[in-house]
Amino acid sequence: MTQTLLYSGKKAGVSASAVELSKVSVRYAEQNALQQVSLCISPGEFVFIVGPSGAGKSTLLKLLYRAEKATEGKVLVNGTDVGTMKPRETPLLRRHVGMIFQDFSLLPDRTVYENVAFALRVTGASRRETHRRVPLALEMVGMAHRPDAFPHQISGGEQQRVAIARALAAQPSLLLADEPTGNLDPDTSLGILELLHFINSQGATVLIATHDVAIVDRQERRVLEFQAGKLVRDEACGRYGNTSAAEEE
Ligand code: ADP
Repeated sequence: MTQTLLYSGKKAGVSASAVELSKVSVRYAEQNALQQVSLCISPGEFVFIVGPSGAGKSTLLKLLYRAEKATEGKVLVNGTDVGTMKPRETPLLRRHVGMIFQDFSLLPDRTVYENVAFALRVTGASRRETHRRVPLALEMVGMAHRPDAFPHQISGGEQQRVAIARALAAQPSLLLADEPTGNLDPDTSLGILELLHFINSQGATVLIATHDVAIVDRQERRVLEFQAGKLVRDEACGRYGNTSAAEEE
């Protein structure tokens, strides 16, 4: 019941596309991280981004929450051009875009509750709103029973659940996950995937960059494959495919 409450009334965006890239390139000094990438992701999709290390997966996700800027081309999130956004608009974008990392990136000296609350406050939520939302977010990920624990007092899987609570507390319409199961054992990884599916079923668009062949093959969802900064495959119900590249990791 509580789980549906967190997302009630907030089905994914009003825009026709959740994410749209047209001819996007990202260049670092001597490196093309992304080259002429065009793609479109509809609201409510669940998409895996695969490819070997250095293929550009993280760079793609970073563009979408404005941790990186395109050198060329246009990036739209929920119909908004993030390239022309002013820096002061970034917190607003991050209310709509939640991010999960491989290393969980929790603040070690803050409790579970404080980690989620802190992130909400940064996006501009009032104290009252924060008090209301944090318990809902923790309940959604099955961590409502440990609000006072510090990250080192809970398991890796539980830390990732808290990180997911932190990402979804502001009810983002777009949830980005960069190798979310990279530090977890297979069973715990499946639990995290189920949670991401649940969040997707509540209306959020979910993008997952991963090397986890087993998870991608099991799900048979849309797969975008990158190699050396180029989008080389876009398959509606894909498998990891590039097994040898994944094994090199
Ligand atoms: P992936 O997530 O698929 O491993 P990345 O998006 O992290 O790939 O990186 C794509 C390419 O861009 C790599 O060659 C990487 O070395 C390079 N790169 C990423 N971030 C930076 C940076 N901040 N400065 C210079 N090169 C970078």
